[in-house]
Amino acid sequence: MTTRRITRKIKVGSTFIGGESPVLIQTMAATKTHDFEATADSVNKLAESGAGLIRVAVDNSDDVNALAEIRKRTTANLSVDLQENFRLAERVAPYVDKIRYNPGHIHHLDPNTPWQKKVEYLVDVARKYDVALRVGVNCGSIDPTKLTLNRSGDAVSIPSNGDLTKTESIFDPLLASALEHVDFLDSIGFTRYCVSIKSSDPQTVVLVNRRFAELRPDIPLHLGVTEAGAPPMGILKSRLALEQLLAEGIGETMRVSLTVEADQKAEEIQAARLILTNVAAGNIIDPSTPLPKLDIISCPSCSRVQNGRFVELARQLVKATEFAKDYPFKIATMGCRVNGPGETDQADVGLWCGPDKVNLKDGSTPIGSFGYDEVIEKAVALLKNKIDQFNAQHKS
Ligand code: SF4
Repeated sequence: MTTRRITRKIKVGSTFIGGESPVLIQTMAATKTHDFEATADSVNKLAESGAGLIRVAVDNSDDVNALAEIRKRTTANLSVDLQENFRLAERVAPYVDKIRYNPGHIHHLDPNTPWQKKVEYLVDVARKYDVALRVGVNCGSIDPTKLTLNRSGDAVSIPSNGDLTKTESIFDPLLASALEHVDFLDSIGFTRYCVSIKSSDPQTVVLVNRRFAELRPDIPLHLGVTEAGAPPMGILKSRLALEQLLAEGIGETMRVSLTVEADQKAEEIQAARLILTNVAAGNIIDPSTPLPKLDIISCPSCSRVQNGRFVELARQLVKATEFAKDYPFKIATMGCRVNGPGETDQADVGLWCGPDKVNLKDGSTPIGSFGYDEVIEKAVALLKNKIDQFNAQHKS
């Protein structure tokens, strides 16, 4: 039996995160938010399937108006992610129970305003409308001021020997960013928040959350592997990270992010349940289970996906690149322009979807935009080229 730690307990709508509450399962609606009837229907179905908190994407006034309609049609607990637009907080807060902000994004809008002022504003909104906050740190959008901190180069290459000293130098920017924000929130007397520190690499998720939990055992943690990809790999990566942490008693809420269609999002809840069942039974996955050397990541898709073919494209790419599974490259497939251009920068082969075309990148270098029917062939050719270079280098 796992002994769960006892953190602060925060109220989120009709439920709680932390304290002695059971681990809260979260997911996200991926319908178009402005289609409020479809989104409310999706939210209600996800709540019936066992999600205790459901995120809805909100980008603009149409989405805010839709959120008001969704609120009328559901009693489920709702959250939103502010992405870069922290000013939306006051408009969405009346309709939701939790707001997530990202310390790496909060710099972008009004760059001359200190981040502390922006967070104070978010706290004022949270107090006024009785909502909780999540400080959501993500490896794909690290606070730029933290990147120079004790960083030893490749942010996604984690030593497999468990050398904590070396590994800490990699996850330090994530950790430093989270710690800075929780210290600030505490200093202004606001404690109704949880923290997430996500990476697409399961081992990084384990190490950085474990360390954060050591330093701040009082703060509830939202666990997740970002861009884990389509099942079954997305489930495997999530199990590798989350089962270890939960077995150590760490983690008060969780989301398994899977690249699946909008009407299949209940798979995220089923995967979360599987993880909790395994942990409760003491039957966790062997942490040394190897992952293929070819790392394929993809976003879970959401309302912002610019073409409904994204999920199928991500799946096709997994199949089309099976031949390269033993090569140490990274492929990233992202559903839209919000996170696509930035999060593909660190991949060897990056694809991010536009309305009609898919943008293909070689690292941070754009290669071109291609139709949904032709981009897989182009991506495979790029990958083969990299494999040829790799083989040539390793022959000599
Ligand atoms: S990349 Fe775009 S579509 Fe994918 S989850 Fe992020 S915001 Fe949604």
